[in-house]
Amino acid sequence: MSQERPVRVRIAPSPTGDPHVGTAYIALFNYAFAKKHDGKFILRIEDTDRTRSRPEWETMLIEALTWLGLHWDEGPDVGGPHGPYRQSERGPIYREHCDMLIERGHAYRCFCTAERLETVRQRQRAASETLGYDGHCRTLGVDEVRARLAAGEAHVVRLKVPKDGTTVVRDRLRGDVSFENTQVDDQVLLKSDGMPTYHLANVVDDHLMGISHVMRAEEWITSTPKHVLLYQGFGWQPPEFIHMPLLRNQDKSKISKRKNPVSLNFYRQAGFLPEAMLNYLGMMGWTMPDAREKFSVDEMIADFTFDRISLGGPVFDVQKLTWLNGLYLRELEPKDLVARLREQVLSDEALLRVAPLVRERIEKLEDWVDYTAFFFSGEVAYDAEAREAMVPKKRDAMETAGVLTSVLEVVDGVPAIDPMPFEEMLRGLADRLGWKAKEVFMALRIAVTGRKATPPLFETMAVLGKERCRRRLRQAIALLHTMGPAAGDASPPTSHG
Ligand code: GLU
Repeated sequence: MSQERPVRVRIAPSPTGDPHVGTAYIALFNYAFAKKHDGKFILRIEDTDRTRSRPEWETMLIEALTWLGLHWDEGPDVGGPHGPYRQSERGPIYREHCDMLIERGHAYRCFCTAERLETVRQRQRAASETLGYDGHCRTLGVDEVRARLAAGEAHVVRLKVPKDGTTVVRDRLRGDVSFENTQVDDQVLLKSDGMPTYHLANVVDDHLMGISHVMRAEEWITSTPKHVLLYQGFGWQPPEFIHMPLLRNQDKSKISKRKNPVSLNFYRQAGFLPEAMLNYLGMMGWTMPDAREKFSVDEMIADFTFDRISLGGPVFDVQKLTWLNGLYLRELEPKDLVARLREQVLSDEALLRVAPLVRERIEKLEDWVDYTAFFFSGEVAYDAEAREAMVPKKRDAMETAGVLTSVLEVVDGVPAIDPMPFEEMLRGLADRLGWKAKEVFMALRIAVTGRKATPPLFETMAVLGKERCRRRLRQAIALLHTMGPAAGDASPPTSHG
């Protein structure tokens, strides 16, 4: 049935953090499928979580996907016939649809207070019952609802999940997956501030945007029964669902930034080529008919079928990606290699950012090469002197590692390092940790540059960029852990290198 529909697929990222390799992976498969079937590939921004979404993250995501060459046919930046493509701009659509669902008897208004919900939760916990809404407001009469609305009582709208039976999710890769309705919560669809939750917005938009196939990460499969019930409630034909295997760390846990760099910007800055990145992502859970490992997106499109997707959790292995990237690099003609350097590593833009910081500090042009190396390299070397100076007097290596870990969390939380506010954040952090700002700054300076003397720290970090800073902070933290608690007071290991 849904095969007859024109193919329209989408990715629906939430702009709440750095552009993620997982998003690129799902984007690639959607893109390949769309191209294979002369369909459309759509970018929709799911930014209904107003506290976590930021326009900067959206911009970074668009830049990263553009760098990879995964162009979309419709989206917030290019427009299209089904806009707006940003959920925060579609509020009235969701509210109308919620009303529709209430009228059809598949949703209801719930006036329960946070305190009442907490009491219910505690009772359920004590009785070892499944946690979830107890249905208190399911049966409120029309008049009571009207009166409470008129009185301006805060409320949410909930999905009226049938009390018995099962809901079947038909997944292209897994077959039919059944969920007992008693295990499906009366999900909030519209929050008390009038904003939709993911479930409502996602289903309404997929329908209104004519999405034929929903290809997304398998972590969403447990949400899908709610979506199926929503489609039924609206009387709409659901799209075909394809839940892709999650990318995993080496230890098979879900890919995470603690174990792998997950930001696309890391890979871009480190000089991975977009075609190598796409090739590698294409190898995740999918194989070419002849099982070869090196292939282009066009080749993947030509041979694309769902049958070749395997469900075993694909391991995202940076070493393997690096090896593949090396194959691509070696194939470049020298002039093309230079062109790539000029695009990704030694662009005018990058050089121009470094120039003002080093102009005062070099005397001949050739000094540039030595002096600026740490702006362009990946990791840095910490010599004996640097190691010693990284740990402030009267502190030890483990404490310093702890402080740098807190700094890393600050770096993680911002879209980009903006020197002034960033410095303020770190001064606040130093205060909270009972460290002198200058102790934190010296440890940080050495961690991110490998040197004791550099241009002004925060401007330097801004130019290094978040990804390099993050990578080196991790490197320094790991080093400090190997130095053990005694370092700092005792003399550091001397290097003869
Ligand atoms: N907003 C969800 C995400 O961040 C979309 C999931 C889906 O594709 O339905 O991944």
